[in-house]
Amino acid sequence: MAIERIINTSAKDEPEEQELEQTLRPRDFKSYVGQERLKKNLKLAISAAKKRGEPIDHVLLYGPPGLGKTTMATVIANEMGAQIRVTSGPAIERAGDLASLLTNLQDSDILFIDEIHRLHRVVEEVLYSAMEDFKLDIMLGKGPSARSLRLDLPKFTIIGATTRTGALAAPLRDRFGMIHRLEFYEPDEIKQIIKRSAAILKVPVDDEAAGLLAGRARLTPRIANRLLKRVRDYADINGDGIIDAKIATEALGLLEIDSLGLDPADRSILVAIMEHHNGGPVGVETLAALTAEERTTIEDFYEPYLMQIGLLERTPRGRKVTHRAWEHLGKKPAKTQPSLL
Ligand code: ADP
Repeated sequence: MAIERIINTSAKDEPEEQELEQTLRPRDFKSYVGQERLKKNLKLAISAAKKRGEPIDHVLLYGPPGLGKTTMATVIANEMGAQIRVTSGPAIERAGDLASLLTNLQDSDILFIDEIHRLHRVVEEVLYSAMEDFKLDIMLGKGPSARSLRLDLPKFTIIGATTRTGALAAPLRDRFGMIHRLEFYEPDEIKQIIKRSAAILKVPVDDEAAGLLAGRARLTPRIANRLLKRVRDYADINGDGIIDAKIATEALGLLEIDSLGLDPADRSILVAIMEHHNGGPVGVETLAALTAEERTTIEDFYEPYLMQIGLLERTPRGRKVTHRAWEHLGKKPAKTQPSLL
């Protein structure tokens, strides 16, 4: 049971993981748990668009991985009765790739672009006029004989997803009519998601065990589903397949996930700040070097949760651990010499 499988965000690309996500993915607003404010806004936008007989405005969804951005894009498509095509920023390598994607769309189709902050600059520029007035500007030929051609595009909707709006160029961000942040879920909502997934996968989980797993899932649906699957494996091998509090506690112990849902990588980030910088502040680059994690993984994945549960603070001078973090890890800051100045 490798811990990487639970927390690693790129595990999403594995076929087994994709299959799991497909089966468990809610298809409509009713089965999409939580994010009430977002749902309210989107329902309104969808009803208004339907009434006018138009596609909805372009939507940008942002927030840490695994909170349900892709899922929400498919829910929007279903609720609109629209077709959805799925791609990602880095997958669109040239302007021509985007042109072929866009010209193959039909009126009201939705184009979902995951990791939209990773679009290449040239591709991004083509997207501007496509989003704004449904026109595609393409250059034919090269040199003095080159001429530009303007093509009409169908009235489509872009749904973009990103872990960071800050990394998005302002002109691109401005072309989204709706920009929404996905929030971490409440433990009760995660519990509901675990019960829903358990019912779909036909895994018997009792209420106490569901609560236990919910408390350790980093307030994130994707992690909740992965935990459920790992604990199911454990229950199949070490018990009779039923997940109760005892089985759940044993399996979580084996996965080294602690009472706050931290795994060894989270703890090593906190410990690095404590032991090498006496609690911080420390710059993110230094932290990346100390923990051998990618800077973007720290920023997009680890930090948001550690900040959400009040173990880490971002200050203008760098990252600092909080009193609660020292307490949680049972450590104490070293006494520093009082300054003589
Ligand atoms: P993101 O695109 O933000 O990385 P996804 O939309 O891929 O996240 O969600 C990951 C998984 O978590 C999905 O396969 C889905 O099963 C589950 N999930 C996400 N949001 C919800 C939700 N609100 N209710 C129930 N399950 C959810």
